This record gives sequence, structure tokens and C-alpha cells, in this order.
Amino acid sequence: MPQTLFTARSGGVSSREFTSFNLALHVGDLAAHVMTNRDLLASALSQRQPIYMNQVHGNLAIEVSSANSKAITADAIFTSEVGLPLVVLSADCLPILISAKGAVAAIHAGREGLINGVISNCIQAMRAIGAIDFEAQIGPAICANCYEVDMQMYLELTDRFPNLATEGSRHALNLRAEALAQLKELGVKVSIIDICTAESENHFSYRRDGKTGRGAGVIAL
Ligand SMILES: [Zn+2]
Repeated sequence: MPQTLFTARSGGVSSREFTSFNLALHVGDLAAHVMTNRDLLASALSQRQPIYMNQVHGNLAIEVSSANSKAITADAIFTSEVGLPLVVLSADCLPILISAKGAVAAIHAGREGLINGVISNCIQAMRAIGAIDFEAQIGPAICANCYEVDMQMYLELTDRFPNLATEGSRHALNLRAEALAQLKELGVKVSIIDICTAESENHFSYRRDGKTGRGAGVIAL
């Protein structure tokens, strides 16, 4: 059975505004602190070294293994290797962990990734290597009340992706609903962890804090 976890802010070492368990190297935190936190996470997993990706809000899904684990630039990684933890980092974007028979995946799905097909690219690539019986866990992410965008963007996006729409006059986007619809369309069972990063003090939120850390979603087959 695949195992999954999502980290929060508590634990780890802090530096300045990155209070606690920041796992991202690209956000201006001290690299030594980030690496200490990554070591803590790795030791808690008691498996092989977890694989991180260099996330770029794109739609690329890449197969990884212990032999192919360095400098991965992608927003989805998947593997059929047992015991190899995959990590997605986020602070408002949707961290999506995919379990299947034969493979697992970690997907970083923000607004850009969602509308450019990162989820379907990943599921299709996993099916191509023989994975079946998909289940997804959507981790802590910004909720439909908190993710306001400007009116022009709201109208453009909800025209193309009606599931992003929210009620009322706040022109906020519902990323979870869009991800849920895409996953269901792909035949994937979905569970959602109902925590809004922007409202939870114990989660990193880019929207709320600007300069901040990133939490991890981790999955291993
Ligand atoms: Zn919220």
C-alpha cells in the first residue's frame, strides 16, 4: 500500500520569517536550514532519499527512479519503484498525491498547472507504464474563499473552466473543484484534506505571507 503524508509548519529549524519546517530551497531561506529540515523528513520516512522536483508551474510529468533523481524540472513526478518517496512542495497550490497499483505520483497543481493539464499528463503517463486503480489525495491548499484574482482573469478562466467559478462578487477561483472534476473525469477516486493554507496558521501560505516557506506532500509506493 502506498504511504502518504503532508507536513505542516511545526517541527524543523527556523530562520527568520520561515518559521519552522520549510523544505524549499528557492524561497530565500538559509540553505543549511532547509537541508536540515529535508534530512529530518528523510529520517522520518526511513526509506530511500526522497526525490524533490524543481517546480515551475508547468505541465510536465516525468518518471523518476533512484537512478534518475537529480535536477528534475517538472510539476509532476511518478515512479514504479517501491519505497522511493516523491515530494511535492507547496504553499497554497494544490499538492496532489496519486496512488495506483504499479505506481505513485506527486503533482504540483497551481492555477497554471491545472489549466495546462498537469494532472491528465501525469495520469496518462502512469497508465502508459501499466498503472491501474488510481486514487488521489488533495492536500492542504488555498480554498475557494481565499483565492481572489482580478476580474479579467476570473472571467477568462471561468469561461474555459467553469469548475473554477465561485459564488458572489469576490471573483475567487476554486482550484480544488477544478482538480476534483479533472480527476473524476480521468476515473480517479479523490479524497480532499479540507485545510485552507491561507487560513491555517500552521501552514505556509504565499497569498497570506508573501515571503514564506513550503510544506511537503510525500508519497511512496
Ligand atoms: Zn481559505
